[in-house]
Amino acid sequence: MSSRRTRHILSLSGGKDSTALAIYLRDRIPELEYVFCDTEKELPETYAYLDRLEAYLGKPIVRLKHDGRGFDHWLVVYRGFLPSTQMRWCTKHLKIRPFEQYVGDDLVINFIGIRSDEDRLGYISTKPNIEPRFPFKEDGIDKARVMRILDESGLGLPEYYRWRSRSGCYFCFFQQKIEWVGLLDAHRDKFLEAMAYEKIGDDGQRYTWQQDESLEELSQPERIAQIRAEHQARIEREQIRRPNSTLMELFEGVTTNLLDAPCTICSL
Ligand code: SF4
Repeated sequence: MSSRRTRHILSLSGGKDSTALAIYLRDRIPELEYVFCDTEKELPETYAYLDRLEAYLGKPIVRLKHDGRGFDHWLVVYRGFLPSTQMRWCTKHLKIRPFEQYVGDDLVINFIGIRSDEDRLGYISTKPNIEPRFPFKEDGIDKARVMRILDESGLGLPEYYRWRSRSGCYFCFFQQKIEWVGLLDAHRDKFLEAMAYEKIGDDGQRYTWQQDESLEELSQPERIAQIRAEHQARIEREQIRRPNSTLMELFEGVTTNLLDAPCTICSL
């Protein structure tokens, strides 16, 4: 029989659901290890939220970083092609690999913050020594309950929720246009850094975060006004459909419903 001990690890994304799970499990599983895969391209609000969570837990959150080969290294390897829904090399190199290296060959139960009202699985490691567990699914904990857990802990929601509906890198290509506008408002420096990654090659090849427009195009005042107006119209339509929702819920609804394939390991 194997004498290897089993480790219990919770993957944090800096988002509300995994944070609520950390709070939920703190006293239930005292030996729990908390880990966060830091791409070094996260939002300042994410780092601040993790610091507050760490204080609440009274235990360190292990920040897993890449092995010296960060985003800019891989961008060169991928010949300047920014990650996209079709080629999500960022998640592989900056989230999954550091996690799997941290785990090594240990037997691990990996706790994942997917709620009972969600229809997705999240990141499932293909390594046989990592067994995923979904306590919120098992215990029927939905979004309303998650919000209560966060409220009662005093942590509330991460600050970026005012303008963005999920955690992840500041330049994440899963962002909706209104979230790019939110980034420009909240962190002009980060928006400009994201813009600096975009290039138009000599052959006309566009290396941009979104296929249909560059950030330079998106940041023109008329375009911003148009994006805001379209977003407002969507919110109003959603308000008719869900009259009892808060503004934040409406915002989340119109931004996440549009996603083709939500980023699962990066935003929970
Ligand atoms: S948050 Fe987005 S950009 Fe960052 S690693 Fe995840 S998918 Fe890639």
